Amino acid sequence: MVRIGAHVSQDDPAAHAAEVGAEVVQFFLGDPQGYDKPVLPAKPVEGVDVYIHAPYLINVATTNNRIRIPSRKLLAQHLEAAAGLGAKGLIVHGGHVNKSDDPQVGFDNWRKVFERLECPIPVLIENTAGGGNAMARKLERIARLWDALDGFDVGFCLDTCHAHAGGEELVGLVDRVKAITGRIDLVHCNDSRDAFDSGADRHANLGAGSIDPELILAVCRAAGAPIVVETPAEGQAGDIAFLRKNL
Ligand SMILES: [Zn+2]
Repeated sequence: MVRIGAHVSQDDPAAHAAEVGAEVVQFFLGDPQGYDKPVLPAKPVEGVDVYIHAPYLINVATTNNRIRIPSRKLLAQHLEAAAGLGAKGLIVHGGHVNKSDDPQVGFDNWRKVFERLECPIPVLIENTAGGGNAMARKLERIARLWDALDGFDVGFCLDTCHAHAGGEELVGLVDRVKAITGRIDLVHCNDSRDAFDSGADRHANLGAGSIDPELILAVCRAAGAPIVVETPAEGQAGDIAFLRKNL
């Protein structure tokens, strides 16, 4: 049985894990909308597997130096802090380039990240639901990203809400992803409040959104990777119980 858990608040991840029955926790190290240095949780995180989610503002693909350069620095700082906590991986969104930019520049910028970065733990690039000219919304782009990262040890985090809202059918998705990346390190198991290919990133508890729960289960079974629900907190215990019962 794969390990199942939740994205929780960083104030006391182990206590939140116990509340929802999680064997795995994911949390931010500080404000996900800020460029601040990582802040470690106040209480030790013991007895659960840990994943750290990097701030949303990180965009290492962009051609804008004033975003890309601080993004690289922040990514390195969060990676080091996550490794210090014994985390199994650092999740970061694929990012995007400006509307008029050639996406290849963004893929090349990603390659430069790994040419310079020490990776004591794996970086897991996550697919995104939207973002104009995104690097990791559609599989065609993820394939080009993985071409650019050939030779580097890079992990993948598959988010079911983002795939659905981003316009990728969940049927057979794991096989199509693995054909590109060779691996799925973590599943972000979320329902989507919004319709297929809407481009909106609003997570829902399992069964409360627009995705057939059977499709979500099928993705989880096929991926065979640890699972984290990033769903509204009040329903997380139910989501985890649903997965345990049905997987
Ligand atoms: Zn996610």
